[in-house]
Amino acid sequence: MRTIIEPFKIKSVEPIFFTSKEERVKILEEAFYNPFLIHSNKVLIDLLTDSGTSAMSSDQWAGIMRGDESYAGSPSFFRFEAAVKNITGMPLVIPTHQGRASEKILFSILGGKGKYFISNTLFDTTRANIEFSGAEGVDCLCKEGKLPTVPAPFKGNMDLELLEKTIQEKGAENIPLVIITVTNNSGGGQPVSMANIKAVRKICTTYNIPLFIDACRFAENSYFIKLREDGYQNTSVENIAKELFSYADGCTMSAKKDAFANIGGFLAMNDPALAQQCRNLLVITEGFPTYGGLAGRDLEAIAIGLVEVLDENYLQYRIRSIEYLTNKLIDAGVPVMQPAGGHAVYLDAKGFLDHIPVDQYPGQALVGALYLEGGIRGVEIGSLMFGKYDDNGKLIPAQMELVRLAIPRRVYTQSHIDYVAEVIIEVYQNRKQFKGLTIVEEAPLLRHFTVKMKPSTN
Ligand SMILES: *Cc1c(COP(=O)(O)O)cnc(C)c1O
Repeated sequence: MRTIIEPFKIKSVEPIFFTSKEERVKILEEAFYNPFLIHSNKVLIDLLTDSGTSAMSSDQWAGIMRGDESYAGSPSFFRFEAAVKNITGMPLVIPTHQGRASEKILFSILGGKGKYFISNTLFDTTRANIEFSGAEGVDCLCKEGKLPTVPAPFKGNMDLELLEKTIQEKGAENIPLVIITVTNNSGGGQPVSMANIKAVRKICTTYNIPLFIDACRFAENSYFIKLREDGYQNTSVENIAKELFSYADGCTMSAKKDAFANIGGFLAMNDPALAQQCRNLLVITEGFPTYGGLAGRDLEAIAIGLVEVLDENYLQYRIRSIEYLTNKLIDAGVPVMQPAGGHAVYLDAKGFLDHIPVDQYPGQALVGALYLEGGIRGVEIGSLMFGKYDDNGKLIPAQMELVRLAIPRRVYTQSHIDYVAEVIIEVYQNRKQFKGLTIVEEAPLLRHFTVKMKPSTN
């Protein structure tokens, strides 16, 4: 087979920023070993997130120029609405400024004390919005989804037995929605199969509970279905996506992911009464229903992005580029999550820096090492992000110590990715020289964003 090439050529370029290792030693120290405190013009390859970091196409930029900024009834809104309706089949489309704004509106209406929302895995902003309403989120991820190095085709699937048991335990009347996250971001970007979505639909119908999709990476998930699920090899990804949405009553979306936009999101649904309530809140928090927190130009960029993301040459390149980096690392013996997910490579920091105890944050230490050696920025997803303290102030570690390297869409070329692999492998070969970290200062909530750390002395 021939090399799968980037399915685009480059019209406009942005600089990336080279620094010397001596400079990076100082920058890292001044940022207290926290990647969120490093200025992005001191980063060479930025893999902090795939959210809002996509390169837009020349068509999208042309759409930005065409954007109509009328307060009400802009043609840009109607193009956006048509694009969303076409893919989701849902007649009621509500624009928002990003995914969590959709969540805030939805869960303010459906949430509240005594309510439960069940998911494969709720993303952190989704869970936060559910909990903020007073309700609780419950994850029912399949067993294989919790084993990082054991490969399986659909590790984002719901555990159907556990779902049904949870519904019976909590009472169907207390469960306003079941939500499937595609792909499962917090679980390594792993896909959900169509069979699993259909089975969840059936259970939801039995108990009369609506099903929503957290659709941020619907195109990547649909492409995995085409590659891996029997019966879909000859179906277009667009039709796979349409089938996927056909089992749902509604969806939330962040257009900063699979719509190639730098900002934006939406809610779409079938139920007119619920849509009316959402629009009532939208007007207070986001804006009039034909722009909802966005400029007309953003609506144009999203409408065009939603068509481009279903291009199968793009998706082949996208999924392959994550797999390419993952395989290079596996071949070099680097411990990584398997199989490759849709948007990021996850390093297993516990295996990588096995001389650093969990209370010295091996994930954060690895993030620092990658920056120091190669100017690469990733993010810890481990005990710094999810760890808690017991009554004696001792760390209760997270289940896994991961470092996520999220790949922005259409931004980096194969030689950038080769460089990333080289740096990771070099760090792995010299891993014993890297030390753990100790917390100097931390916030009570979401501490990873602002934490200050220093190298451990032992
Ligand atoms: C990013 C994301 C969100 C939230 O979207 P924002 O646009 O960042 O507010 C919700 N769910 C998933 C799965 C996401 O990846």
